[in-house]
Amino acid sequence: MSEYEAVIGLEVHAQLKTASKLFCSCPAVFGGEPNEQVCEVCAGLPGALPRLNEKAVELAVKAGLAMNCAINNYSLFARKNYFYPDLPDGYQTSQFAPPVCENGYLEFSHEGETKRVGITRIHMENDAGKCLHVRGATLLDLNRAGTPLIEIVSEPDLRGAEEAAEFMRQVHAILVCIGATDGNMEEGSLRCDANVSLRPVGSGVYGVRTETKNLNSFRNVQKAVDYEIARQKARLDDGGAIVQETRLFDAARQVTLAMRSKEDAHDYRYFPNPDLPPVIVDPAKIEEWRAQLPELPAPRARRFVESFGLTEEDAAILVSDKAAADYFEAAVALFPQGRRIAALMRAELLRECEAAGLRADEAKFAPAELAELAGLIDGGEISARTAHEIFPELFAHGGSPASFVRERGLSQISDAGELEAVVDAVLAENPDEAAACKGGKTRLLSFFVGKVMARTGGKANPALVNSLLRARLEEGQSTET
Ligand SMILES: [Zn+2]
Repeated sequence: MSEYEAVIGLEVHAQLKTASKLFCSCPAVFGGEPNEQVCEVCAGLPGALPRLNEKAVELAVKAGLAMNCAINNYSLFARKNYFYPDLPDGYQTSQFAPPVCENGYLEFSHEGETKRVGITRIHMENDAGKCLHVRGATLLDLNRAGTPLIEIVSEPDLRGAEEAAEFMRQVHAILVCIGATDGNMEEGSLRCDANVSLRPVGSGVYGVRTETKNLNSFRNVQKAVDYEIARQKARLDDGGAIVQETRLFDAARQVTLAMRSKEDAHDYRYFPNPDLPPVIVDPAKIEEWRAQLPELPAPRARRFVESFGLTEEDAAILVSDKAAADYFEAAVALFPQGRRIAALMRAELLRECEAAGLRADEAKFAPAELAELAGLIDGGEISARTAHEIFPELFAHGGSPASFVRERGLSQISDAGELEAVVDAVLAENPDEAAACKGGKTRLLSFFVGKVMARTGGKANPALVNSLLRARLEEGQSTET
């Protein structure tokens, strides 16, 4: 049994957020009736000529800039030849050499360490259509054929399944942040292939790799890579060899399955597409696009930690979703207690958003209202528990939390005199526990806090109840000893 090191590289495919397809003016939108969004170009009819969508070039270049790539002023589209029923041209139009972006890297923190992953290249290509298998027949829907993709190819710098999933999260966050993709993974806007091999620890030579295709969630990336590492290890330990092949991930059974032997680049007989001129990008244009880039997730997270005192974990969660990060900034501008806002967002808002399938900016409960709610808690008007209890209703309808609390009579009781009477009554009703508590069983304090809260319908200010109880019980102690 040897000790192995996993070597992992990802190829991430992202659908670019353009209005039209890569080489024609058909709409590039998800869904629609089959073959409604198809013309002679994306249907691959003989003689139809492609014309490159400039917006796709802009988004590909912006992705490259955000991932620290060199941008090539001159790149080419090639024909990547293979037969597939839903690929009407008989080849995919893809950039081989040179691609539009290359030699970049991504840095992110993972398990407390800064991880740097090289980006080999980013290139543009068109997507295929879809085969539908209906009652023994196979039907073709070409609506997706020709939609613009970028493929981001990483260096084999990843060493574990969690790290691979984290890399995919980072890519997702960056591409959504810069508006290159909508990032909707259920609709296949982002998917990836994972190349995995093992080698003995300390070896500088790569082992034989397998490629697991079409992983469409962060979780599936992690599960498929985990499975593949374990499968290859067992095979090598048995004295077997790894076969270079393409595999599929069966998400229901959580296993990868052999699909076909893996092609090498020469099998595709790449050659420059004679119907498309070279892609020339003016350096001035590149600088213009660079200037348009918004603040990226990693520097934004650092700023959240430094300016608002967030924990790294809170900051990372907020910036991984641009809508959530924007929501946070809008709320914290009105109520500058970053940790309180972040805690409310994580515990309440983002949880409700996820359950409702909404982005933060689609919620009826606006940032100003969340800021108001945070103010009610920090001002002692309501407890965090009350906030939690009323949140689903606030989230469903929006509106002012202060009015809601007033109308429902939910304000905390912070009147010491009123609470003292309740504390005394509760102590008098439970003399044995009171005596035990005075005798040193301080754990019983929470028993009394619970009694007071129950009697006040959960509205007593918990901090005040605590201090009143302590005062009473200590009084008792001094008289008895
Ligand atoms: Zn078309």
